[in-house]
Amino acid sequence: MYGMVKDLYPICRSITGNGVRQTLRRIGEHVPLVTHEVASGTAVYDWTVPKEWNIRDAYIIDPSGRKLCDFKQNNLHVLNYSMPIHRKMSLAELKPHLFSIPDHPDWIPYRTSYYKETWGFCLSHKQLLELVEGEYEVVVDSSLEPGALTYGECLIKGESTDEVLLSCHTCHPSLCNDNLSGIALTTYIGKWLQQQGSLRYSYRLLFIPGTIGSITWLSRNEQAAKRIKHGLVVTCVGDGGPFSYKKSRRGEAEIDVASQHVLGHRNEPFNLIEWYPYGYDERQYCSPGFNLAVGSLSRSSHGQYDEYHTSADDLQLVQPEYLAQALQVYLDVIDVLEHNRVYVNLQPKCEPQLGKRGLYRAIGATHDGKSKEMALLWVLNLADGEHSLLAMAERSGIEFKAIKEAALALRDAGLLSGI
Ligand code: ZN
Repeated sequence: MYGMVKDLYPICRSITGNGVRQTLRRIGEHVPLVTHEVASGTAVYDWTVPKEWNIRDAYIIDPSGRKLCDFKQNNLHVLNYSMPIHRKMSLAELKPHLFSIPDHPDWIPYRTSYYKETWGFCLSHKQLLELVEGEYEVVVDSSLEPGALTYGECLIKGESTDEVLLSCHTCHPSLCNDNLSGIALTTYIGKWLQQQGSLRYSYRLLFIPGTIGSITWLSRNEQAAKRIKHGLVVTCVGDGGPFSYKKSRRGEAEIDVASQHVLGHRNEPFNLIEWYPYGYDERQYCSPGFNLAVGSLSRSSHGQYDEYHTSADDLQLVQPEYLAQALQVYLDVIDVLEHNRVYVNLQPKCEPQLGKRGLYRAIGATHDGKSKEMALLWVLNLADGEHSLLAMAERSGIEFKAIKEAALALRDAGLLSGI
């Protein structure tokens, strides 16, 4: 995953354009990806697919002939979606088009102007303070023309047509945690899913530009959206911050309980965030006309880390071990979704004798295997057709994995039947 982040890092992405296409091609080397092109001007609910933006070069020449804000050195230097310009101007004329972060004078901010046609440059505050009076030559060699919005979609079929949605945004240029970590993690979950012999659910992986991408997808897939039973927005999964779970608008959906359960059993502090109508694409999936059970599982959350939307969200902030931990958490959540069923105890009148079925320790009064036996007892007791395995795990305080193993053992012994 880290290799993929590194590989995609130099590409200048935006909500449209060739950087996105290039990124999707790389993703398509790992998972079967269908790429969609939606023409500029297409109405998507209350929005319109914008013109396509592409950029070849951008820089400023200062009065001494020095090149500043060189796009080829760092693509964050150009205000994303800048209109083309090639003109000489005074510092006073240039300054309103320059963006910096006074609190972090060495970092370059990441700024966009998708829906207002303008141009601009981002630079370190240190560099901004060094600018002298005189004539500046400003060059943005970009195009903003009718084209398309490009997104990628991967469907991995399971036994059911009910779907689990994993959605990540693909619109940020050289920024690692937000959003390359999400792209890499989603891709590798896709690789893992493909390797599984059988899956209960079908999995839909979306690689879309933020906001306009999810709006576009939803507007073209109203029927398909009804098949989404659980979903997660995947972003900011590569930094060293504690895990965070932002609940879906529903708040108590299975994905909400499953995510909290998995994080709760890691024995590390995590942040639980109530639904709020800002953040990433969960805003669209959880709009009232859809109200899908889509939460967001991240490490540091949206806007809650210093490096967010700056050049410091780089290959040092994201580390392989953090990505690996996030992958494990996601796979654990998927394991819950795949195996969370309702069972009925076929011998509900008093406890069945587990010892004669080889399910209980042969010698009494030892503490070995106690938790395994407790899981068996909890499952037998709560398998009344009313409790899912996840509900049993939550009520007993036992990790889902142990409850699942107990249920499968009881089912194999003929004591439990799935409904
Ligand atoms: Zn962002």
